[in-house]
Amino acid sequence: MTQNDRAKRGIRRVDLAYAQLASSQIARDMNRDVVLELIRGRQPISRAELARVSGLQRSTVSLIVDELLDEGWIREGALARRPRGRRPTLIGLNDDLVMIVCDIRPAQAVVAVVDLNGRFLSRESLPIVSEPARAIAQINECIKRMWQRHIHKSVEGIGVSVPGRVDPETQRLIFAPNLKWPSFDIKKAIERGTGLNVELDNAANACLLSEMWFGRMDGIRNAVLVTISEGIGTGVLANGQLVLGKGGLAGEFGHIPLDPAGPQCGCGSRGCWETLASSCAALRYYAELNRGAKHITIPELMEMAEEGDAQANEALKKQAHYIGQGMRIIVAALSPEVIMITGDITSSWTRFAPIVEKEIAALILAGTPPHLVPLDESEVARLRGAAALVLQRHTGHPRSRKAKTDQSSD
Ligand SMILES: [Zn+2]
Repeated sequence: MTQNDRAKRGIRRVDLAYAQLASSQIARDMNRDVVLELIRGRQPISRAELARVSGLQRSTVSLIVDELLDEGWIREGALARRPRGRRPTLIGLNDDLVMIVCDIRPAQAVVAVVDLNGRFLSRESLPIVSEPARAIAQINECIKRMWQRHIHKSVEGIGVSVPGRVDPETQRLIFAPNLKWPSFDIKKAIERGTGLNVELDNAANACLLSEMWFGRMDGIRNAVLVTISEGIGTGVLANGQLVLGKGGLAGEFGHIPLDPAGPQCGCGSRGCWETLASSCAALRYYAELNRGAKHITIPELMEMAEEGDAQANEALKKQAHYIGQGMRIIVAALSPEVIMITGDITSSWTRFAPIVEKEIAALILAGTPPHLVPLDESEVARLRGAAALVLQRHTGHPRSRKAKTDQSSD
């Protein structure tokens, strides 16, 4: 009853604002999720305190805690300080349990080791070659190197975020116009190369999961997370569920055409939202304003704008205008409470947010527009999201497609 059981069951991040304690035997897993969530949020915490805040019987809490200790999700630590009487043992998440995570982007990959609390123990980036088998071989080498560095930790698995859509059943990349790796089985190649289990998902879904696990999204049931980098990806939370759609293809707002006469998109269409509002679009706008200027990178463009370069500013303003235009579609389709944004442009968000907000506000059908929330560091969000993919292996959003079999086996 250790790593195997843990891998089989996974854990689920529950939203305490909506969590309900279950009394029946069938739903004991729900109580387990609530207890684990309380430990996560209030660690270090005693069994007595857990019983008090959860409202569960002391004996029920003890059973669940023993089970979580057995499976290695939590561990006992210091004794609580009390003026007199017995000092209870405090419980916290098991820091020795880690995930190896990898964020694959068109030109580079980042590999990191993340613990159960979302803390980074190591991080390394490497350039990506265009040939997938070679690129994955290099990533595998990096993973193994990092694993060796933390050999005393228990590795729960590998989480990978990719710039494309992943079929939830086969875990194969089925749509990735910016990463041209046709039908290459990333999951199998990393599992073969490392001997560890791999979970794979779209970067936007991973970022959304990261916010649900390690961020402050409690109480929010409808949210959209938009990643703005080489392309545009979105992760959708509707009525508290991550939306996958048929074949995992839901949420491709980046490929809704806004201008049929616009630039050619990697998906085959013209004028898709991402061809007008991605970081690559901002670079194109800058090049159009500066015919013959040398090629620059996005960090350079951001820096030039920060230093007052008029054309760099103009290019980013145009990008912000189109970001807002596309968000109108998201608002009309899903009416989220919050739209989270991650990507290069968020480093100067205070300057460009008003342009985006103005565009959205121009087409609000009723009520107030959603809150726009920039996330600090997109790389961190993608990596933490990849860790969350591993943690919720058999629960969370994959659970929604397995719900029937889970229930019948109970
Ligand atoms: Zn497209």
